[in-house]
Amino acid sequence: MSTAAVIVAAGSGRRLGGEPKQFRMLGTAPLLAWSCHAMARHAQISELVVVVPAEFAPAPPVWLTGLCDAVVEGGPTRRDSVGRGLAGLTREHETVLVHDGARPFLSAKLIGRVLEACRDGPAIPGLPLTDTVKLIGEGGLVLSTLDRDRLRAVQTPQGFPLDLLRSLHDRAARDEAEATDDAFLAETVGIPVRIVSGDPLNLKVTTRADLALAEWLVRSGDPAAAGIEPPGAETG
Ligand code: C5P
Repeated sequence: MSTAAVIVAAGSGRRLGGEPKQFRMLGTAPLLAWSCHAMARHAQISELVVVVPAEFAPAPPVWLTGLCDAVVEGGPTRRDSVGRGLAGLTREHETVLVHDGARPFLSAKLIGRVLEACRDGPAIPGLPLTDTVKLIGEGGLVLSTLDRDRLRAVQTPQGFPLDLLRSLHDRAARDEAEATDDAFLAETVGIPVRIVSGDPLNLKVTTRADLALAEWLVRSGDPAAAGIEPPGAETG
């Protein structure tokens, strides 16, 4: 079975200030290079497209072109960027994984779990919550407390039959529907989405504190112990 991967990294990523965070160094490699490397070296991924901000697309960094099959320009929203990534695939595949470039610590095990579950329909990684979660209403007042046991914080990569994800994105583009993840597009048309076990290491680097935590994790050796390495680490 053939699988493609699209990594979206076209957000402005400037909450950290200065250079977009996806191009900041994390340990010995740019943050985005970590997840590209994980996808590129996975035996079941046969094509990788990476979506970057418009200003980087015409002349992408050499480290990036060496890790993927194509670099394409992103759009104004995440949904647009995923759509452009799917359009950038040059071959046909049965399944596709969509991953946020902001999640550097992507293990082969997690890729495998999602792939295993997404042959017949969408599959996404999720983690139980430790916080109590409240629904709020007008004026920020609490309406209710949600049942924590039934909640999951979801991550990427999210896996789909490729034809299905293409049609969901075509429809969303027509309707100008927005979504913070791809599974939402399936949910809204009643397609069941399966949850598989997420990975606590697979954190999303959004703020300066997240980047500091990611740096600390690299130094702690936890990602390396889980087989998660930056490009070049296997030979270095
Ligand atoms: O917007 P959010 O922080 O949830 O972004 C999740 C991922 O989507 C990030 O990797 C970001 O770079 C990407 N993204 C994108 N194009 C956009 C907005 C976000 O590729 N227009």
